[in-house]
Amino acid sequence: MKDNKEIVLFESKDQCCACGACMNVCPKQAIRMEEDKYGFLYPRIDSDKCIGCGACKRVCAYQQVEEKNSPLISYAAVNCSNDQKTVSASGGIFAAFATKIIDDGGVVFGCALEEVHDSLIPHHIAIDSISELGRLQGSKYVQSSTEFSFSQARKYLDEGRKVLYSGTPCQIAGLKSYLGKAYDNLILVDLICHGVPSAKFFNDYLNAVKNRRHYRKITNYSFRDKKKGWGMNFRIDAIDANGKSISFYNPARLASYNTLFLDGLTYRDNCYNCKYASKKRPGDITIGDYWGIANEHPELINKNGFDERYGISCLIANTEKGKSFCNELDEYLEKVESQYSKIAKRNKQLNKPSERSPKRDNIMNIYAEKGYEGIEALYRKKYRKQRIVHFVYNKIPRSIRNVIKKYKDQ
Ligand SMILES: Cc1cc2nc3c(=O)[nH]c(=O)nc-3n(C[C@H](O)[C@H](O)[C@H](O)COP(=O)(O)OP(=O)(O)OC[C@H]3O[C@@H](n4cnc5c(N)ncnc54)[C@H](O)[C@@H]3O)c2cc1C
Ligand code: SF4
Ligand code: SF4
Ligand code: SF4
Repeated sequence: MKDNKEIVLFESKDQCCACGACMNVCPKQAIRMEEDKYGFLYPRIDSDKCIGCGACKRVCAYQQVEEKNSPLISYAAVNCSNDQKTVSASGGIFAAFATKIIDDGGVVFGCALEEVHDSLIPHHIAIDSISELGRLQGSKYVQSSTEFSFSQARKYLDEGRKVLYSGTPCQIAGLKSYLGKAYDNLILVDLICHGVPSAKFFNDYLNAVKNRRHYRKITNYSFRDKKKGWGMNFRIDAIDANGKSISFYNPARLASYNTLFLDGLTYRDNCYNCKYASKKRPGDITIGDYWGIANEHPELINKNGFDERYGISCLIANTEKGKSFCNELDEYLEKVESQYSKIAKRNKQLNKPSERSPKRDNIMNIYAEKGYEGIEALYRKKYRKQRIVHFVYNKIPRSIRNVIKKYKDQ
């Protein structure tokens, strides 16, 4: 029987992270994720289908669950294979985890960036073969849609298969709440995360690049390409006006999307008061970049694969299960014990959320009113000096830049 009480999933936008748990739990498929004018996804209830059971409201971890896990042990870590590190954003730790789970016959969930109707869509998928691993590797600095991956994960878990689910902390908390009970065969991996722009904003940026450079099509985008080392250079793969496949590389600071992302000006509303930007983590394991490792652990550099050119990760076990999983990985990664306080020194998101600049709403409103052209015009005007500085800085040989960086980090 239908209970006519209207269900309100959130009172204000900063109460919803778009984890999708409510959509996955609804027994009547009455919830869809819909874009707002900035492209951010929010759940919407179809009142004709809804029976008012309230399951969607009860499952919302973002509004109702306080995380209890906190760091048990922290490491600096790298994948044993340089090839794996090269195609990963930091030290390739995720690939090491995924390889172990797949070798054990399990399933791995994570974010893939895939072409759908001429757009590059970030969404969560499941893989169970090493040949598919590349689809999940590399950070995509844009919100990934979890779609129905939570119910898919439960199906595998109930079949008794090992499952590793990776994502932003809010996605991991959403999955845990959706599952409603602990599974011994589940490993949850959350990323250190400072916030996400919308997939629409990202694709509008790609379209602006495509039009400006007269490409026929953009076929792939790597947010952190390591051709020039561990850092924030991006790569675009495209088909040019003559039908030739090309790739171009640039430092993040020379592109509008990446610059505004790094400056924290284009994130979803709730990212600015993210409850997971703390020691309380939803994952069994937390992974991120080990920024500043040369200062914190100079003794490790250039030994046993700890090479800054390829990237070095931090690895934090938050549960006993996470800790023992880390101890099963000797075949796949090198790890050396470190300290949470050292890792958190240059990863502010482990202590507090990204700050919401007064400029953020202005920028998002320009986007809503003028589209990405408005954003590009703003970037060219406001970031002119910064672009020149970065352009010149990137012409300096890397060895000299590393010395400058080390000096600045002290
Ligand atoms: C939006 C975002 C913000 C981040 N912010 C920080 C930060 O402030 N500090 C820091 O140290 N690290 C941050 N990271 C994590 C970092 O970029 C690396 O992803 C992490 O160190 C893992 O690197 P890796 O080399 O082990 O694996 P990689 O192969 O580089 O990473 C793959 C993993 O990232 C996941 N992933 C990629 N994109 C997304 C996405 N959009 N949503 C959910 N999961 C995704 C995949 O599912 C997989 O688990 C962020 C990542 C994302 C996606
Ligand atoms: S469950 Fe997730 S998607 Fe649904 S309202 Fe809560 S935060 Fe938003
Ligand atoms: S109240 Fe029940 S039926 Fe209605 S949207 Fe929520 S979960 Fe679905
Ligand atoms: S900053 Fe927090 S709320 Fe935003 S995507 Fe990351 S984990 Fe989710």
